Amino acid sequence: MMREEHGNVAPALISKGEDVGEIRVDIPYQLITILETIYSWVPKGKIAVITRRCDEKALAELTKRNYIDEKRIIKIGLACSKEQIAKCRCSDPVPSKVDIGEPNEPVPKDDLSERLAKLSPEERLKFWVKQFRKCNKCFACTHNCPVCFCDDCVLEERTFVPEQSIPPGLSFHMIRSYHMIDKCIECGECERSCPAEIPLLTLRKMLAKDMKEVYGYVPGDPKAVSPLNTTLEGETLEDECDEC
Ligand code: SF4
Ligand code: SF4
Ligand code: SF4
Repeated sequence: MMREEHGNVAPALISKGEDVGEIRVDIPYQLITILETIYSWVPKGKIAVITRRCDEKALAELTKRNYIDEKRIIKIGLACSKEQIAKCRCSDPVPSKVDIGEPNEPVPKDDLSERLAKLSPEERLKFWVKQFRKCNKCFACTHNCPVCFCDDCVLEERTFVPEQSIPPGLSFHMIRSYHMIDKCIECGECERSCPAEIPLLTLRKMLAKDMKEVYGYVPGDPKAVSPLNTTLEGETLEDECDEC
């Protein structure tokens, strides 16, 4: 959970018997990314996590891929405020169980996605190439993403993304887009983290729309099997992404 101490707010792991202190639920920090780091430090027992709807969907994606055992997680459902929903342009803001807050209405559409969808493919490409030229390859979008979980990231390999190349070129963004297309739960953390202000959430939303239209697949559903893990004969494959 997020805790305020001496005027600063930061993620905190609180053990049994410890004073909880001043909990803050108004900051959409990606606690699931933190959970992935501390999960192995706590080999036994349960871990309680404040989960917004996007956190709940990230947990579902991690559980499906055997990265965590959801039976060890106690979810404290947090319904996001209207202000937060507007900031996140969130179309799915209410967790399956609300323990904190009141459910609020989603934002039905992303204005930039709608505008881009009306452009020709050439104009859209021009828009994204211009955006990607701003990228400084800081990796904030990958490191802060709750479902970007490979131990060794292919984007850090020189084969696909030359070490010295900044901006990194289209392959960087295409590989990341492909890797996120069946996992992205639209939390917006990549966009919030990006120092170059590239509208990464819009990119994810547009790709998610295609994924839904073409394959009927929506990330975050614990029962839905990714079409990327399915053979043409309909057999499910293991997702083994320890090393990408
Ligand atoms: S993406 Fe949606 S569920 Fe997640 S913090 Fe934003 S408003 Fe809440
Ligand atoms: S919105 Fe960005 S940070 Fe969040 S899950 Fe999707 S790719 Fe990851
Ligand atoms: S956060 Fe932005 S600038 Fe940094 S690597 Fe990702 S897209 Fe590039």
